[in-house]
Amino acid sequence: MQANSSFSEIRKGLNNGTFTCRDVVAHYLANIQAKNPQLNALLSVYDDEALYQADVIDRKIKEGTAGKLAGLVVTIKDVLCYKDHPLQCGSKILNGFESQFTATAVERLINEDAIIIGRNNCDEFAMGSSSENSAFDPVINADGDNRVPGGSSGGSAVAVQADMCAVSLGTDTGGSVRQPASFCGILGLKPTYSRISRHGLAAYASTFDVIGIFSHTAADAALVLEVIAGEDEYDSTVSREPVPTYSDQLTLDGQKKICYIQETVQNDSLNEEVKQAFLDKVEELKAAGHQVEEVSFPLMEYALPTYYILTTAEASSNLSRYDGVRFGHRTANPKNLEAMYKKSRTEGFGNEVAKRILLGTAVLSASYHDAYYLKAQKVRRMIQEQLNGLLEHHDFVVMPTAPTTAFELGSKTDSMEMYLADLFTVQASVAGVPAVSVPIGRDSDGMSIGLQAIAKAFEEHKLLAFSQYLSGN
Ligand code: GLN
Repeated sequence: MQANSSFSEIRKGLNNGTFTCRDVVAHYLANIQAKNPQLNALLSVYDDEALYQADVIDRKIKEGTAGKLAGLVVTIKDVLCYKDHPLQCGSKILNGFESQFTATAVERLINEDAIIIGRNNCDEFAMGSSSENSAFDPVINADGDNRVPGGSSGGSAVAVQADMCAVSLGTDTGGSVRQPASFCGILGLKPTYSRISRHGLAAYASTFDVIGIFSHTAADAALVLEVIAGEDEYDSTVSREPVPTYSDQLTLDGQKKICYIQETVQNDSLNEEVKQAFLDKVEELKAAGHQVEEVSFPLMEYALPTYYILTTAEASSNLSRYDGVRFGHRTANPKNLEAMYKKSRTEGFGNEVAKRILLGTAVLSASYHDAYYLKAQKVRRMIQEQLNGLLEHHDFVVMPTAPTTAFELGSKTDSMEMYLADLFTVQASVAGVPAVSVPIGRDSDGMSIGLQAIAKAFEEHKLLAFSQYLSGN
């Protein structure tokens, strides 16, 4: 089996008998063994189970009863439940915890004969932009010795980048699939909010959280999305919108109307090389006959503060369940009940998570609720309307996925500086619309540059066709 094969290529090899599922799993296990000690993308490897499953699926392939994803080897972010397997959300507070059920998205993959080979490292409770906030050491970008993979789904991105699996699942609350995809040179799709059930996803900010997909090709992302999306009796917020067969709609039909945002290309934090690669792509699209225009999105700069007020508020509420009683870590010998709560949480949570819980509790408190939380809700609606207004007149809004390429480990010590890594990804999250990051080039250090395309709610089919078009296959 070739390195970095897409699932479509693997499927061909399996169908014509060039190799078996067992060979595919063995290929990834060898890569995991060779690379994971240095890259730290996986916190658990389910080697025996994966090999066992491979034999079961090899038999099904012979009998002609194999599912749609037979031979697809997947890793899942450490915020997705997988029954009887560890779940830690990159945190010490969940030490020793094992899932009692399987997340709907993961269950649907398994039902179609995908093989889950491991659990991906990530920023603690998905809070971060570099995967340095994990309690289990940072994930390392496979393209550069001392570079971060982005975050928070850094382990999921690196697992695909370094050929430890064909596809991985991450989660995207404010950019956690798109930004690492951009830093690692692969495709990252954040579907519309509510497109995929959140049942079995450990909540960070419930009105933003979306399960996302990392892959080498748009065709693979399409196939996985059509399997995992759609109605679910366990999630009352999931959309009832029918799920199209995305994998049949991968051809871009004709010339498109595209816009890019003045406030992104003129932004001070945008790196010159990223800007140039992006503008070159814009010229290429124009030369190919697409209509591309520059537009203004005046509320763009308010998206980041809005995002951080609302997500910290939701996080402070969601994370109150980790109290030392019900899950994971409990402090030893507390003096009384209150000390038990306080010490368990203080010992269990890392600094970034603790900071966000405090901030979120403050913006929800009686004295600040109206000035921050309520105001941010109103601004969210305005941003939604402004972005949807642009999407009324254009098929896609495009921009660089992140203002920079992958930065060095330990280079961003200031929180605000780190939050700026999400400057261009939070808009689609605040508005709940789908977005994808596709690699479009490399900087002079060889680090990948990503282009982000945003479409109207439930237009993943258009984004996937555009992604396929941009990657020229
Ligand atoms: N970096 C952003 C944050 O820290 C986004 C995280 C995410 O999408 N999970 O909140």
